[in-house]
Amino acid sequence: MKATLAPPSSLISLPRHKVSSLRSPSLLLQSQRPSSALMTTTASRGSVAVTAAATSSAEALREGIAEFYNETSGLWEEIWGDHMHHGFYDPDSSVQLSDSGHREAQIRMIEESLRFAGVTEEEKKIKRVVDVGCGIGGSSRYIASKFGAECIGITLSPVQAKRANDLAAAQSLSHKVSFQVADALDQPFEDGIFDLVWSMESGEHMPDKAKFVKELVRVTAPGGRIIIVTWCHRNLSQGEESLQPWEQDLLDRICKTFYLPAWCSTTDYVELLQSLSLQDIKYADWSENVAPFWPAVIRTALTWKGLVSLLRSGMKSIKGALTIPLMIEGYKKGVIKFGIITCQKPL
Ligand code: SAH
Repeated sequence: MKATLAPPSSLISLPRHKVSSLRSPSLLLQSQRPSSALMTTTASRGSVAVTAAATSSAEALREGIAEFYNETSGLWEEIWGDHMHHGFYDPDSSVQLSDSGHREAQIRMIEESLRFAGVTEEEKKIKRVVDVGCGIGGSSRYIASKFGAECIGITLSPVQAKRANDLAAAQSLSHKVSFQVADALDQPFEDGIFDLVWSMESGEHMPDKAKFVKELVRVTAPGGRIIIVTWCHRNLSQGEESLQPWEQDLLDRICKTFYLPAWCSTTDYVELLQSLSLQDIKYADWSENVAPFWPAVIRTALTWKGLVSLLRSGMKSIKGALTIPLMIEGYKKGVIKFGIITCQKPL
């Protein structure tokens, strides 16, 4: 389903370019524990059956993500506004409960990400931007206004795409930004057309990280920048092959509620970018900067307005709220890392 508004002229949906998939087994789809359906294959037909199961599981995940955001985006916007990502805070700062404080921290997340990637306001080269996993388009509208750039956002949720277009129209930005339903793993864009490829907290939903990164690289213009800000698990230490069972267990419980496939580490992303010969690869762990975020979300949810909205919004939102303590635990115990990874495509 496509959003109704036409995208800015130069970004109109273009013939789909087929990419062959780079598949790094450790970064492929699925939870790290295959379901029994995946295991009951005969040796000769095994790979066909596994592929079919993986496809239907990927489809189920896409549907789950779309439904999750269809159902929960209204609540989030009502309580927190149009940015569906962590705020960036000074480590150990005491967080104000005022709405503007959170909004400022979420805007700061965008600003810090651009700064870290070396994309500055004087940068006149940023003319076309893709917002991969755009939510209701907060980043797109902010970046389009900041740089005067054309920005197109993609999401799996039709509700989000419509709301994002409505907000753009209300802010007289429809000539600059537009949103549509499309899959980040199979983007409806030509090769090499975006000066900035922006993925703010969507990578964690991608079942095939290698394909995700390859697709980001494909649509980036030569000399363009990619910025991925995402939830990761901690880097494995030397000799370690996987997370500890209790750590995996914690992540599995978060995955169920937030419709996430297997996680990877920041190092995994860096290695993927290196394997594709990207330049100026930089990364950082911002876990300490986002630490105040989830406790603040809980405090807002516990206000009268928050509770009423939560109950009205439905089971997915309620389950999401009940999972927040696991996120806090994951950060505290160092299993979850909030990472930024950026690079430049060679000219
Ligand atoms: N970047 C936004 C929203 C983050 S929420 C913001 O900062 O406000 C995660 C977003 O990723 C949702 O919009 C969800 O629909 C999108 N998403 C998840 N998997 C996707 C996929 N395969 N293709 C496109 N969008 C995806």
